[in-house]
Amino acid sequence: MPFNPRDPDQLSRYGRQLQLKQIGPAGQARLGGARVVVVGAGGLGCPALQYLAAAGVGALHVIDGDVVELSNLNRQVLYRPEDLGKPKAEIAAQRVGATFTHATLTRAQLHLLEADVVLDATDNFAARFLLADACRVKGIPLVQAAVTQFSGQLGTYLPGVGPCYRCFFPEPAGTLPGCAEAGILGAAAGVMGSLQALEAIKFLVGGPAATVSGHLVVLDLWTLSLERIALPPDPTCPLCGPTAWIRDLRDAGIEETP
Ligand SMILES: [Zn+2]
Repeated sequence: MPFNPRDPDQLSRYGRQLQLKQIGPAGQARLGGARVVVVGAGGLGCPALQYLAAAGVGALHVIDGDVVELSNLNRQVLYRPEDLGKPKAEIAAQRVGATFTHATLTRAQLHLLEADVVLDATDNFAARFLLADACRVKGIPLVQAAVTQFSGQLGTYLPGVGPCYRCFFPEPAGTLPGCAEAGILGAAAGVMGSLQALEAIKFLVGGPAATVSGHLVVLDLWTLSLERIALPPDPTCPLCGPTAWIRDLRDAGIEETP
């Protein structure tokens, strides 16, 4: 729903963040008009969706093909025991939409990438590279986060502005141990999902300069130390360099659905 500065309900609901000079009525209007796609409604996506909706993002689309399992409940805080076996995307959209009635929440398909910003809240290299390639060739900003045990990573990739995901990680490096093998604590995933929401909100209200674009942020969630690694664009990058060979979704190995 667009932000209406004369609506007492919205003024009260967003009052605390309207006070922030980085947001204010202009930023709130941008959030209200924004369309954000969250890919993955798991440990990262659950907090990200809630904070984006709570901040007043007008249209949220959630993509996830999994169903809720009992082992998800230690970190995927939108789900309850009665949701077991049900599609995560559907439950997440219903539950967040019911709490934050100013947001439109839909369960989306992957071809729906006409977003102002996409959040990669997936948990595997295949999905991560697919999203990084699709967003770059379509010119869509991408906020990517990952968490393995107590190690978290955050990056924002802005087409035409900063380096892309493949400048840092040219090719999938084997396979990542999943949560089932490596183990995961809910609060650790929650920190990274919240940071993703924060980064998307900062981009929507403040533009590229408000983001970590050009850097990889690495958090040790056990010692709570943070490293911000500056990484320049890679001139040999297959996705965004002058000799890039990934120019459209077909090059990236993605079938475009009409
Ligand atoms: Zn690149």
